Amino acid sequence: MTLLEANGLRKTFGGIVAVDDVSFEVDRTEIVGVIGPNGAGKSTMFKLLAGFHTPDEGTVVFDGEDVTERPPNERTQRGLVRTFQIAQELTGMRVMDNMLLASQNHPGEKVLAAAAKTSGVRDFEEDARTRAEELLKFLELWDLRDEYAGNLSGGQRKLLELGRALMAEPELLLLDEPMAGVNPDLTDRLLQRIMDLRDERDMTFLVVEHDIEAIMRISDTVVGMHDGTVLSKGTPEEVQSDEQMLEAYLGG
Ligand code: ADP
Ligand code: MG
Repeated sequence: MTLLEANGLRKTFGGIVAVDDVSFEVDRTEIVGVIGPNGAGKSTMFKLLAGFHTPDEGTVVFDGEDVTERPPNERTQRGLVRTFQIAQELTGMRVMDNMLLASQNHPGEKVLAAAAKTSGVRDFEEDARTRAEELLKFLELWDLRDEYAGNLSGGQRKLLELGRALMAEPELLLLDEPMAGVNPDLTDRLLQRIMDLRDERDMTFLVVEHDIEAIMRISDTVVGMHDGTVLSKGTPEEVQSDEQMLEAYLGG
């Protein structure tokens, strides 16, 4: 069952073709990894999927609906969520408050708040608190709940970014280089958490990542990009032994 489709996506910046006729599908509960050298078009493709860029050509279909013209927040409400770096103004806030603030992205929030102006709001806040507690424990950040986000290590911050995105209860989570700057110990935990979320909550992931070893370890399907195009697509084993990929990227 397909959850996300990229159909013939193309994006240019002036004379630069950043993404050129990119097509692939992400099935429900699948982990898809996107790899490729610097400048391959990975981040641009990611932004096309999340809605931060509009393609020159092609469509993005999520859960059977064409969302190509839909802004990022609408995609989030439909369950297509991406992580965000902890913004400067959030570094002075505690971990728990960061999580609670993120719950405002939750699709149910506006509906609930509007429907139940008095008592329902408290229920919703309690619900958010319960969810935040559960997620912080799951991410092993619970002991740090009263710490300022700015005092977290790089890896812990990545986990908090993941936690904040999970507050929105995504169906599909887009991750752009989640392992960047994370020490090996936390990398393992982060990877394990992604696989747990897939196994236990039927979540779907699209992960753009530089760390090839990590991607090959967790992905069901790997999309290899080069010069804006998809060079290779298949199981990690297939992509790793693909001659064009080896030549363009993996061999070097
Ligand atoms: P990757 O994430 O794989 O390193 P990017 O998608 O960031 O690749 O970049 C692909 C190409 O598009 C590069 O040549 C880059 O310089 C160019 N590019 C990306 N974003 C922009 C932008 N906003 N304006 C102009 N050129 C861009
Ligand atoms: Mg990039």
